[in-house]
Amino acid sequence: MPDAPRCPICDSHDLRTEPPFASCLACECVQQSWPFDARRRDILSRQAIAAPNSERIESARRIVDMLQSHVHGRRIYEVGFGDGAVLSAAALKSWQVAGIELAQASLACVPDLAATVEIGDFLSRDHEHGDDAGSYDVVLFSYSLEQMDDANAAMEGAAELLSHGGIVYVELVPLSDLNGRGPERARNELPQRVLFPEAEHVRELLWRHGLTIEDETTGVGWRWIARSR
Ligand SMILES: [Zn+2]
Repeated sequence: MPDAPRCPICDSHDLRTEPPFASCLACECVQQSWPFDARRRDILSRQAIAAPNSERIESARRIVDMLQSHVHGRRIYEVGFGDGAVLSAAALKSWQVAGIELAQASLACVPDLAATVEIGDFLSRDHEHGDDAGSYDVVLFSYSLEQMDDANAAMEGAAELLSHGGIVYVELVPLSDLNGRGPERARNELPQRVLFPEAEHVRELLWRHGLTIEDETTGVGWRWIARSR
């Protein structure tokens, strides 16, 4: 277990705890004050995953098209692949796909990809299949970065996986945007999220890991594309 709690964005130990939240006094990023709680891990591993509907499949296809316009290679790693829609869309376009997901139920959504994806925690995954550092053109976090026990360690891991000039794609809803969608929405996200960052915190995290932001778009969630230098 970790030492004294620290801010995953700026490393400060100067946190103001107001359960269930802890706010960083240095950069003002908000995290759950019990990020390593076993209950959340349990919720994430047991969550039901619905097979993607046609709308979701179409949206995943658009994401892959967009990624294709940013990189030459076609190797993607998805952290928290959920229903597998993006990986499946990428595989259909002849990408080499891999990924990891906590929810056991995810495997049923990607029967064709069972050999290349795994169930587990990105932060503690083993490298029994060989060292895959520098192997991917894209590392994708779609509503998963905020669920990581340690977003800083997760981004470090992502940066390591990237080939030279590869990109990280992050999609999430920043805290103020989440609040704007009403207290119920924020409450629903509470059991699953560790981090409640503002957009500036995501920018800072990408920058800290040697990634240059090429695109930032707001939509259902905010999306960032950042390239390894
Ligand atoms: Zn901070």
